[in-house]
Amino acid sequence: MSKLEDIVSLCKRRGFIFPGSDIYGGMAGTWDFGPLGTTLKRKIMDEWWHYFVESREDMYGVDAAIIMNPRTWVASGHLATFADPLVECKECKSRFRADKIASGITESVTTEEFLNTHTKCPVCGKENWGPIRKFNMMFTTHVGAVLPDDDAETANKNLTYLRPETAQGIFTNYKNIVDTIYPDLPFGLAQQGKAFRNEISPRDFILRDRECSQMEIEYFVAPNAWEENFETMRGLQHDFLENVMHLPADKLHEYEVPAEDRAHYSKRTIDFMFDYPNGEEELMGLAYRTDFDLQNIARESGKSMDYRDKVTNEVFVPHVIEPSIGVERLMLAVLSTAYTEDEVNGEKRIVLKLPENLAPYRFCVSPLLKNKPELVEKARGVYQMLREKYVNVTWDDSGNIGKRYRKQDEIGTPKCIVIDFDTLEDDTVTIRDRDTTEQIRVKISEL
Ligand SMILES: [Zn+2]
Repeated sequence: MSKLEDIVSLCKRRGFIFPGSDIYGGMAGTWDFGPLGTTLKRKIMDEWWHYFVESREDMYGVDAAIIMNPRTWVASGHLATFADPLVECKECKSRFRADKIASGITESVTTEEFLNTHTKCPVCGKENWGPIRKFNMMFTTHVGAVLPDDDAETANKNLTYLRPETAQGIFTNYKNIVDTIYPDLPFGLAQQGKAFRNEISPRDFILRDRECSQMEIEYFVAPNAWEENFETMRGLQHDFLENVMHLPADKLHEYEVPAEDRAHYSKRTIDFMFDYPNGEEELMGLAYRTDFDLQNIARESGKSMDYRDKVTNEVFVPHVIEPSIGVERLMLAVLSTAYTEDEVNGEKRIVLKLPENLAPYRFCVSPLLKNKPELVEKARGVYQMLREKYVNVTWDDSGNIGKRYRKQDEIGTPKCIVIDFDTLEDDTVTIRDRDTTEQIRVKISEL
């Protein structure tokens, strides 16, 4: 099993992921994606979009604003309930999420229950706690002209939030879409985009960050058809995770969330858990949200969320099945699956065995020697040809060939193509396989 710190180190060393605002000493819970990380992230998001939206007739895309009318969060319940149990150490003033530092308690822990766990402060080691307080995780911001000396009423009038989930941007557009494209039930609205959560203690690399990218679908169904659609969605998630993301099935576990732990809107939720390097954590959620959100919006907006069935003329508010996945969580699952250490010719090797559809580069092309113009020219020709054909192709003429292989292994390039003196004679090249390190000769025309 790979260790998280090895993956963090590789990601920084090879330009996948850097700590956010690194140059100014960082910004807790934020991460910046370098060239390779950006490519990997886009490939993951594009595969999802293709699988769930482009290849289907019942799915439509939405791209809503991040800053929404604050009534959104009143209606959704986030203002009242999107909170974590915060506890403060009276000795050193450190603040923690109570259910993350004590075992055997849930998010709804009371002060008494927490004190009974006799948890010691992870920072100073003392046991002197203040009461459990609910901390709302939405980031606040002010929209428009607000001055530092404005009174509280003026400032509050302009107060709003960075969205804590992309879902509400979909629900608030449900009526627009029903009124403009008249989709037949069941239909889904999908969105990819940023969401923000002011985590009390961000941790585990990109697993629990304050700014993340989500991929969510709200799948609208007739109320009496929710169970069959829930099962269909469940099957699709497995197919996507196992056959498109190539995550090993034995590292994926379904957890049926009991009623008392479910989000306030859900009648059934399955958390898809993944065996990450630091243990089992939630990878994604599949929730039956009933008509909770549309009914809330109808109440708060005063507008009807009714859907009229085109065949039966029956009028009802649709129910919703929601698969929701964090891009960074999925990326860490992909990276930790791919991260491998083995031995080649008696030397330790780090290799990222990324599937071909996700590897930032499919091929690396290089001349055997950098200082032989005839090799370089021939190699550039092969490089240009492959770029036109496969797009994701990289060029590497740094160091010796052994070093290039090590580098390409670490960034997950499946095949390295080397142009040598034989190429000039017979137009064949060496293709070296990342996973087996085996080399074969093939004709350039067969690449
Ligand atoms: Zn302390």
